[in-house]
Amino acid sequence: MIIGLTGKNGSGKGVVADYLKKAGYIYYSLSDMIREEIKRVGQEVNRENLIAMGRKLREDGGPSVLADKVLDLLDIDKNYIVDSVRNPFEVRALKRRKDFYLFCVEADQKVRFERTKERARENDPTDFETFVTLEEKELNSTDPAAQQLVATAALADFIIDNSSTLEDVQKRTKEILLELVKKNTRPDWDTYFMNIAQNVSLRSNCLKRKVAAIIVKDKRIISTGYNGTPRGVKNCSDGGCPRCASFAPSGTGLHDCLCSHAEENAIVQAAYHGVSIKEATLYCTFSPCLTCTKMILNSGIREVVYNANYPLGDVALRLIEEAGLQLRKM
Ligand SMILES: [Zn+2]
Ligand SMILES: [Zn+2]
Repeated sequence: MIIGLTGKNGSGKGVVADYLKKAGYIYYSLSDMIREEIKRVGQEVNRENLIAMGRKLREDGGPSVLADKVLDLLDIDKNYIVDSVRNPFEVRALKRRKDFYLFCVEADQKVRFERTKERARENDPTDFETFVTLEEKELNSTDPAAQQLVATAALADFIIDNSSTLEDVQKRTKEILLELVKKNTRPDWDTYFMNIAQNVSLRSNCLKRKVAAIIVKDKRIISTGYNGTPRGVKNCSDGGCPRCASFAPSGTGLHDCLCSHAEENAIVQAAYHGVSIKEATLYCTFSPCLTCTKMILNSGIREVVYNANYPLGDVALRLIEEAGLQLRKM
């Protein structure tokens, strides 16, 4: 899950970030990325330079450049904080991840001024009037390269009021986290197994295409296979299969192909370990060819779930239906 933090100066995003850090969330900050760039070019880090460099980076790399960069660093399985989201383009980029939620931390203007005065960072204004004037200027820009805090806040999924006590903010943050965890958008079984199959296919050494199959029984994987030349034979990618290396048109020269198919290898791997695949489900990234289909039927597999249609696979699919196996396309 990714929690984005936005909020006006002094709203106390740091308090929420600290709470999330303690809960194990890994911290990134879009403004730290700007700070690093300012240091890299040898400038002083102050509020003016932060705004100017933020603008420059967005002008050069597109309005969502900071979010795009941070997204490259984030794994799909871990929890992250992305602090200092300041532009709707950044929000839209981050929302490409279905597990992204934007928190907007709010506090009264006077409270925020006192807080910025206290932390005295990067030439923050020291009198209230300058604070208000500067803020007006920053808040309502329509320039895509500038920060746009009002438009960003409008995209927030959750508002956290941080005008009173630390305990209140922590309590509210905890409530939201519990709500999000309950949503628990984990993949269904079909998606889970097909995602694994697609990962298995990456291990294929075949020059023509990467295919994988996994065999599942009682919701447990009992065998996997990907296509490629047989054990002990030079890999297809190293020239082990002359037919694949000639990039023969699809469907031609199949009898000369030295590569085993993914479904074939998954069935053979079960045999290698002496595991029965009777009544199992086979997940394959392409629908099976005719030869593999005949093996599937005789192996006792009772269900085939596939992702994409294999060219010339129609006869095989008809055969699977005729034999009474369950067949589903994802
Ligand atoms: Zn091959
Ligand atoms: Zn096949």
